[in-house]
Amino acid sequence: MANFPVADSTPGARLLRGATLSTRLRDEIAAAMDLLTVRSGRAPVLTTVLVGSPPPAIEYRKSIVRSAARVGLTHRPVDLPVASSTADLAAELRRLNDDPTITGVLVLMPLPPAIPAEVVLETLSPLKDVDGITPTNAGRLYLGLPSLRPSTPQGGIELLDHHQIPIAGARATVIGRSNVVGRPLAIMLTLRHATVTICHRQTRDLAAATQSADIVAVAAGHPGLVTPAMVAPGATVLDFGVNVVNDRVVGDADFDALADHAGAITPVPGGTGPVTALVLMRNTIAAGFAVLGGTLDHVRDIEFDALPA
Ligand code: ADP
Repeated sequence: MANFPVADSTPGARLLRGATLSTRLRDEIAAAMDLLTVRSGRAPVLTTVLVGSPPPAIEYRKSIVRSAARVGLTHRPVDLPVASSTADLAAELRRLNDDPTITGVLVLMPLPPAIPAEVVLETLSPLKDVDGITPTNAGRLYLGLPSLRPSTPQGGIELLDHHQIPIAGARATVIGRSNVVGRPLAIMLTLRHATVTICHRQTRDLAAATQSADIVAVAAGHPGLVTPAMVAPGATVLDFGVNVVNDRVVGDADFDALADHAGAITPVPGGTGPVTALVLMRNTIAAGFAVLGGTLDHVRDIEFDALPA
């Protein structure tokens, strides 16, 4: 008797790759950048500020430089000596705020121990705040108003949308509550009508909080933290972790073990990472429009391809 090929019933999570979304984002950015250049009379410039030479910041800058080059956005580095004072950094940020040739500003973390990160939040112009960290942008996100949003969680939401993972009504558990990933992601998920649980280092029973989730998002900086025992079969795992283990980049989820258990999972590398960098580029263009109009009120329009009139 002939062997009929069975339908593809191979178990395995859908891979939520960033690549196809990245292609769309690049097109969106190119169109918006052309329009901004015409409207403002100059090409946009993204500045990254590096204080000293912490390796993670240097790595992140390298990936920003690569992404900027790919979309044709000019990157201008500002490097301050490791011995810079809080006042030095504040003065540099004020200079960048006032410099009409600078469109967006990202301060690379970590800062030297002598400089509190608050100086950045308190000094940077919200209109140039491409990572959405200032109280104005964070507050506007909290209130559901248009704002420049932290690129990593925003990219994660767009990755879910792109792969048609439903968010409204879903139970989502976020592991991590940093100001740039976990906490803003939790807010974005509630704005999209998910039921959200936020976990952190002092959460007593992490597995209990993740097992009932339709979406488990993790940004904890802890390789192997999310295991199959913590994830309901068929659930979606959104991994923002970037860890180097034995010279390999791995996420915060045990990808190999989850690949046959989760319903969908972002690979690391190749999942959330490429999207993050492009959302940062798009935020730079959005910042350019915000500076032009003197308001954050139309920022969200950029995401929906409907550019401000
Ligand atoms: P990121 O910028 O990737 O969000 P941070 O180091 O700033 O990274 O934040 C890490 C977050 O992850 C913190 O909120 C911390 O409480 C959480 N976290 C770290 N390790 C664990 C763990 N083992 N279990 C639960 N939460 C964790």
